Amino acid sequence: MCGIIGCVGRPDETLDVLMHGLGKLEYRGYDSAGVALADGDVGGRLAVAKRAGELDALRSVVDHTGTADGDLEGSVGIGHTRWSTHGPPTDANAHPHTDCGSRVAIVHNGIIENFQGLRDDLEAAGHEFTSETDSEVVTHLIEAALDEGASPEGAFRAAIARIEGSYTIAAVFAGTEAVFAARNDSPLVLGLGESATYIASDIPAFREFTDRVVYPDDGEFVRLDAGGGGWTVSDADGEEITKEIDTVAWDAEDTGKSGFEHFMLKEIHEQPRSLRQCLRGRVDELGGRIELPEIEELDPTAVQFVAAGTSYHAALYGAALFRAAGVPAQAFLASEYVTSVPPIGDDLVIGVTQSGETADTLSALREARGRGAETLALTNVVGSTVARECEHVLYIRAGPEIGVAASKTFASQLAAINLLTLATVEDGNREVIAALRDLPSTVQAVLDESTAETVADAYADAGAYFFIGRGLNFSVALEGALKLKEITYRHAEGFAAGELKHGPLALVTQETPVIAVATGDGELARKTVGNVKEVEARGAPVIAVTDGRSDVERYADHVLSVPETHPRTAAVLASVQLQLFAYHTAADLGRSIDKPRNLAKSVTVE
Ligand code: GLU
Repeated sequence: MCGIIGCVGRPDETLDVLMHGLGKLEYRGYDSAGVALADGDVGGRLAVAKRAGELDALRSVVDHTGTADGDLEGSVGIGHTRWSTHGPPTDANAHPHTDCGSRVAIVHNGIIENFQGLRDDLEAAGHEFTSETDSEVVTHLIEAALDEGASPEGAFRAAIARIEGSYTIAAVFAGTEAVFAARNDSPLVLGLGESATYIASDIPAFREFTDRVVYPDDGEFVRLDAGGGGWTVSDADGEEITKEIDTVAWDAEDTGKSGFEHFMLKEIHEQPRSLRQCLRGRVDELGGRIELPEIEELDPTAVQFVAAGTSYHAALYGAALFRAAGVPAQAFLASEYVTSVPPIGDDLVIGVTQSGETADTLSALREARGRGAETLALTNVVGSTVARECEHVLYIRAGPEIGVAASKTFASQLAAINLLTLATVEDGNREVIAALRDLPSTVQAVLDESTAETVADAYADAGAYFFIGRGLNFSVALEGALKLKEITYRHAEGFAAGELKHGPLALVTQETPVIAVATGDGELARKTVGNVKEVEARGAPVIAVTDGRSDVERYADHVLSVPETHPRTAAVLASVQLQLFAYHTAADLGRSIDKPRNLAKSVTVE
């Protein structure tokens, strides 16, 4: 949620760098966008521009008219793209926010929980607020400290000391050639260029300029100074902290659209590559073994998964895999876990979150750790909060995912979960290892031959869609429905196929396509076929996602085929078909596919 960018050291290009960064971060929030620039001139002023709406609204201001504040010039700057939590998406609520005297501008990602009390006090002391956001209190706290004679850095620290909640906050001051930042429970990464330095919520914002990064921890302060790429990270007492410098393993091109109309379509098509990355060096086919040194010592006797959204569907799949291997396992919605924590015992608690910043999941993991559980992070983002907080990390290595609706990260989560169970509780399952080895090419075959576009066209006017499946395909059905909901805004529900007759069948009509996922020829597929007959008898159009091994095709109006493979990898292939089905339905409806309304990637609020 929310993207922050900051830049120091490119005096003639500050605005361009900020706008470029915001473009790369727009997937994190698109309610409004804004920038603030400053320079070191004595008596210098802040230049601020901000607009409600997507980044294009700000671009039109920046490109054509300048702003009421004058030209957007400055040797240092910060920018923000918002996902509103306090106050609607208006120009006034857009970040950056400034104090009464326009001496400081700040951007904020997160929620300041004690803002109301602070605001009341500040208003009583004469400060005038111009927005409804929680964030604005920070500018006035800084102003109050400046009035008492504090330096910009001292005032920034004083303000941070007063606030509670989740935040990354960045600030620039009129007349000061520096950017200040602090974090708590929100992402922040530092980029180190030759003579320029950057801060951002996520690496794509500055990846074009540098691959050297530093990850500040919660409670730490960052200061970027002009001249020679100076930067420091320090603790709350101002003590400098020595930080490791990492190198990013992917290229700037990985964050572009590569000729596809949408990021989501590109990411769906990237799955053979991202799956290869996930598996590379980890599968020893000859030896029939999985090599994951990072989790070598794990030997779970019981497992709890915590996750949200798409990752929760991966967690359901994961819990089923552990149970099949004889290890008791359950998947929990992260936001519910905290409200009634199940007994932990010796359980390994696995947090699944593609961004590594999902607040609900972080909070569930903290709860579990507080009760003595060992925790494992399954995530895509190196250096993310979850990766740093858990004792163990398994990276899914999907590469950057920009489309708000997850696609390739889901496939890589499923693949990584297979690696995890193979490495920990079911050593030597050669059939699965062979299926995993073939997974990238079977996904490619699905992408090459999918008829999802034609099928989507046939049903783009449907009033509602129902997805059904059993076993692993139940999680696929849930994910298929979520994907459709997210990007088409159409009503869609996923059900366990056997559950349909216990209620939801009442909703099934000739207007409601039922998408049935039935792979293999085992009992689950046979029973799903039985459920398909039930809906067919009620006149509902049926779309079967199948490898042709059951006779579900006989009762289907349309078929989305997947190659024959192991049931575990069949689930991945089926979910690729459902991603394409959702994508093409959304395209038919002209939806904002990469940035669906009300949603944002990386949900850093509870
Ligand atoms: N809570 C702040 C607001 O509503 C920041 C939201 C964000 O992270 O974008 O403006």
